Amino acid sequence: MTNPPEASAGSRAPSSRASRMPVVFVGHGSPMHAIEDNRFSRGFATLRELVPKPEAIVAISAHWFVNGTYLTAQPNPRTIHDFGGFPQALYEIDYPAPGNGALARRIRALLGEERAALSTDWGLDHGTWCVLRRMFPEADVPVIQLSIDRRLEPARHFELARSLGELRDEGVLLLGSGNVVHNLRDAFRRMQTGDTDTPEWARSFDATVRDAVLQHDHAALVSLWPGYETARLAHPTPDHFLPLLYAQAATTDADPVRFPMEAFDLGSVSMRNIVWG
Ligand code: ZN
Repeated sequence: MTNPPEASAGSRAPSSRASRMPVVFVGHGSPMHAIEDNRFSRGFATLRELVPKPEAIVAISAHWFVNGTYLTAQPNPRTIHDFGGFPQALYEIDYPAPGNGALARRIRALLGEERAALSTDWGLDHGTWCVLRRMFPEADVPVIQLSIDRRLEPARHFELARSLGELRDEGVLLLGSGNVVHNLRDAFRRMQTGDTDTPEWARSFDATVRDAVLQHDHAALVSLWPGYETARLAHPTPDHFLPLLYAQAATTDADPVRFPMEAFDLGSVSMRNIVWG
C-alpha cells in the first residue's frame, strides 16, 4: 500500500502539519474597516489566502493594554465593542468564535505560570474581531487573546513572546494587531482639516520598521520605542506598537517576509500588514 503523501513530509511530531504556521502582524486602524468595504477591509480578507486555516489563533491586540499578562480562558469569549461614537451597526457585530481553555493553560505554562494568568474579564476586542471577521468570517477557529502588560519595557515583551514561537508547529496562528504608526491626535486633526498628506516622521518610522523586519533585526525593533527619533510622534503611547514585537518574537531568520499591505490611512496611520513564513 502507498502511504498518504503527507506521511514523509513532517519531522516534528506531534503536529499533523508538515510546516510551521506563518505569523501575522496586521494594522487594524479604524473600527469602520469592520463594516466598510474598502482597500483595508479587503486587505484583511486577503490575509486568509496567505495562511493555512489554523487550529487556533492567539491574538495580541493593542486594545488589551493592562497591568498584567492575561489570557482569555472562556469557552465562548464575548465580543467587546471597545470604542465610542461609531454607527450602531458596529455595536451590533458579534464574532462568536469559541475559546480554547486547554490552549490558554498551555500558553500560560509556556510564558511561565508566575508571569501570566487566565482571565474571564475580557473577550475579543475590536483589534481582534475587526480583522478576524474578514479573515475567518465563519468564526469557527478558536481564538485566545493575550494581553499586553503596560508596565513592561519593550525588551521584556519581546523576551516573553519568544516562547510562543513553538505554537506555530501546532497549527496556531499568532496574530499581532496594532499599527506600525499610530498617532490618533494627528490623524483626527488631518481628518478634520482634510490634510491627508503623510508626514515625513510617519514615513520615516514606517520605513525603519519595514527595514528592520526585512533584516530580521530583532534588536533594532526592540530599541525603536521610545528611542528612535520619531518614535514619540509615531506612538505617543506604545500600545499599538508592542503587538509588532510579539509577532516578531515568534519568527526566525529563516522566515520569508511579505508586506501584503503598505499604505497609510488618515494621512499618518500606517496600515502595513506583515506576514512571516
Ligand atoms: Zn486600535
